[in-house]
Amino acid sequence: MKITEHIANAKDTLFSFEILPPLKGQRIEDIYNVIDPLMEFKPPFINVTYHREEVIYKRLPNGLLEQKTVRKRPGTVGICAALQYRYKVDTVPHMLCGGFSKEDTENALIDLDFLGIDNVLALRGDSMKNEQFFAPEADGNRYAKDLVQQIKNMNEGRFLDEELQNAGKTNFAVGVAGYPEKHYEAPSLNNDIEHLKQKVDAGADYIVTQLFFDNQKYFDFVDRCRKAGIKVPIIPGIKPISTKKHLSFLPHFFKVDLPDDLVKSVVGCSSNEEVRQVGIEWGIQQAKELKAAGAPAIHFYSMGRPDNIVSIAREVF
Ligand code: FAD
Repeated sequence: MKITEHIANAKDTLFSFEILPPLKGQRIEDIYNVIDPLMEFKPPFINVTYHREEVIYKRLPNGLLEQKTVRKRPGTVGICAALQYRYKVDTVPHMLCGGFSKEDTENALIDLDFLGIDNVLALRGDSMKNEQFFAPEADGNRYAKDLVQQIKNMNEGRFLDEELQNAGKTNFAVGVAGYPEKHYEAPSLNNDIEHLKQKVDAGADYIVTQLFFDNQKYFDFVDRCRKAGIKVPIIPGIKPISTKKHLSFLPHFFKVDLPDDLVKSVVGCSSNEEVRQVGIEWGIQQAKELKAAGAPAIHFYSMGRPDNIVSIAREVF
């Protein structure tokens, strides 16, 4: 079932979360151990992130460095299919422009279609660690909006090979990313929202936001999107802070600000156990306020640790 249908049928804010595929070599049971405690809150859908290849350098016995390309977290599609089968829940694989030719994308979408997966979160992806700026494959999609367009073309039975006659139509609902605090490459929030509008005009059915800690940023973002003519549901994404390291990691990695009150509380903690508690309390307040404001769903960034999300969900859902 499509995310948009889940939202349309819901009487209240939906509970949802995203998981990362396990590191290569770990077992799928590790993922089930993360998910099992969260199923109590009946998520209608679960997102599974996609991790493209990385360039790493390995020192050889002769002292020279060997450059290798590896994928540390493969398995997005397999996990989606396994979760649908095991939990009877819809899954949303994340799909990137980066590292994919349009032909690769088309073939991956055919696999998803055959597996009965009805939703995709269409993303550009970041630059590789050894590149300063994002570079698409020579014959790949440049921006997320181009990927949205390709998926929507397939929904209309239009494949890359124009001579393909009577091609079956796929039927994906497509989500895209939105950034209440602006995407780090965008020169301004307004400019970023113009690009978000292009994704919606290309056919995106809903938006999931980057994580944020100050709900006012989400409310302002939704207002700006509505004024820009974006009418699709905008699902807020939140993540409970759980270690002191997050104070520097989260702004660095996700390009988001933390409110002073939260920073002060975390700085005042004497252990990460106390930080977790602060993060849970903050998450409960955030989620309650978002729910009261009528958010269509709340998307929790689990990062492989379910316990703090369970504590929040118990109070809110
Ligand atoms: P786009 O929408 O293509 O935008 C990228 C930048 O280009 C923005 O600054 C935008 O303003 C600008 N832009 C867009 N169109 C144009 C245009 N026509 N001209 C000029 N500029 C333009 N990454 C992963 O690798 N794997 C994941 O699983 C993953 N999941 C995510 C889930 C969510 C909910 C979010 C919010 C992000 C996720 N990301 C993931 C990160 C994402 O890939 C990065 O943030 C990436 O840098 C941007 O992706 P996008 O889809 O927002 O790109």
